Amino acid sequence: MRSASRLVLPLAFLAALACSSPGRPTGDTSVDRATLEMDAPMEVERDIVLAIHGGAGTILREEMTAELDAAYRAELSAALEAGYAVLAAGGTSLEAVEAAIRPLEDSPLFNAGRGAVLTDDGHVELDASVMTGHDRRAGAIAGARTPRHPITAARAVMEWTSHVLLSGDGADRFVAERALQRMDPAWFVTPRRQQQLERMRAEDGGDEERKYGTVGCVALDDEGRLAAGTSTGGMARKAWGRIGDSPLIGAGTWADDATCAVSCTGHGEFFIRGVIAHQIHARMDFGGVDLPSAARATVLEALPEAGGSGGCVALGADGTLVAPFTTPGMYRGWVDRDGSVTVRIHGDERH
Ligand code: ASP
Repeated sequence: MRSASRLVLPLAFLAALACSSPGRPTGDTSVDRATLEMDAPMEVERDIVLAIHGGAGTILREEMTAELDAAYRAELSAALEAGYAVLAAGGTSLEAVEAAIRPLEDSPLFNAGRGAVLTDDGHVELDASVMTGHDRRAGAIAGARTPRHPITAARAVMEWTSHVLLSGDGADRFVAERALQRMDPAWFVTPRRQQQLERMRAEDGGDEERKYGTVGCVALDDEGRLAAGTSTGGMARKAWGRIGDSPLIGAGTWADDATCAVSCTGHGEFFIRGVIAHQIHARMDFGGVDLPSAARATVLEALPEAGGSGGCVALGADGTLVAPFTTPGMYRGWVDRDGSVTVRIHGDERH
């Protein structure tokens, strides 16, 4: 137990507002770096920490009803409570990550599990990954159609196979063999996502309005072990077979007790090409910089410079927590010093 010495944990949340500026081509999500801001650091005293995201994107107040806003906040809070309860009971960070992500996968509000976005041909193809920081083990599934909880399937790949990533039919066969809960592929498809696909087809849109909606969690347990997990349906109207960053270790998910745990959300192709989760780790490991600097340089500078958009939650081995994003909003939350839950959605919600 590390609890003998209470840690003082600076909790610095980064937020970036992607202001639309004239002269940019439609769909250009690059941001003006002058608009990127950083929330004031917050002091948190504790030896267990948990944070989640529910996706970054164009989350506009004018498009959010009071009921929907309340529903998002309630479900993010419930997920945080589920994960935190595991840590508070002495569970591992891996168990906490899984416990926090499962309710978000069950919620039709988020782009993971039931309610995930649809492929161009109207199916759900689920991606998820987990990684533990003390041993750098990892597991992932991609393009699966049946696991009710893709994050649990990813954990099972890590714990029950000698592989890291199983895809497509193989992932579904593995889920069946492990007797994990399976659902009919139609169970995952919600009317809201069907309407979204129809709208996108009518407008011939790609990744509609850049609302990403992936879910992820990072946690630090009282043994000082970090873990990260991410679960998604990918990008709306993606091509069949397309695999994003979320199941790719180093792109969408990373954990190393020497540096940090990271879970990403955003336009996956840019996260893959920038190896964004690992890039944050590498800046700390090889460059010796602290987590806020590494996260800022990666997510608020390198990512938009490459034309990408999105965000992450990243938790340092010392408990430092950051949540940078280049989009107008990112569903996010964490548990503070007395175990109470904070949830934020918009970029202008600050300390
Ligand atoms: N990163 C995910 C992907 O590209 C999408 C998201 O974050 O919602 O598959």
